[in-house]
Amino acid sequence: MRIKRLKLSGFKSFVEPAELRIEPGLTGVVGPNGCGKSNLLEAIRWVMGEGSAKSLRGAGMEDVIFAGTATRPSRDFAEVSLLAERAAGEGVAESGIPADGEIEVTRRIERGAGSAYRVNGRDVRAKDVALFFADAATGAHSPALVSQGKISAVIAAKPTERRQMLEEAAGIAGLHVRRKDAEQKLRATETNLTRIDELLADME
Ligand code: ATP
Repeated sequence: MRIKRLKLSGFKSFVEPAELRIEPGLTGVVGPNGCGKSNLLEAIRWVMGEGSAKSLRGAGMEDVIFAGTATRPSRDFAEVSLLAERAAGEGVAESGIPADGEIEVTRRIERGAGSAYRVNGRDVRAKDVALFFADAATGAHSPALVSQGKISAVIAAKPTERRQMLEEAAGIAGLHVRRKDAEQKLRATETNLTRIDELLADME
């Protein structure tokens, strides 16, 4: 999967709509301290489904919304869109998400209303977005996204945490989620079958 474009509006210091095209090859972002370089990486992790406000340097998730300055009022929403391209055979078509081609994932948060996700303009669940990125061996916790302090966290990680990182890098993290779902469905079906047996026994 290749990330082609990032669009931000009202996200942290990016109060005005901003668009970044990411061309093939190496992309560097340079700027003075505090200009928003880390906010860009956080926007990528956020649109991929990051659920921890703390890991985005905030106390609550609404802290990603532009908080205002002495000269500009705060915003009521933040929105980030990431345009990605999957090559044929690279992905799995699921829950309205196509298997290949250009896929635009959007996350929007409104004050008091929480987050919502869209893929190519259609509403999807947070879980679908998480699976989409997990299948592509990336996601909000991907070891490919190295934020400040991450290196020392990797060095200090427990063996189980390192295993999780390796599984995410290998693109198999989504399989665990699907297995859990399948097991839940199996248990629900077994309960239904038991109930049907009881009803049949009552009728005999
Ligand atoms: P450094 O080079 O020092 O690491 P940086 O370029 O990575 O800096 P960031 O940490 O991305 O900069 O950006 C910090 C800036 O973002 C600060 O000026 C901070 O006030 C601003 N900022 C963070 N959250 C919000 C918010 N919700 N609303 C408005 N501004 C915000």
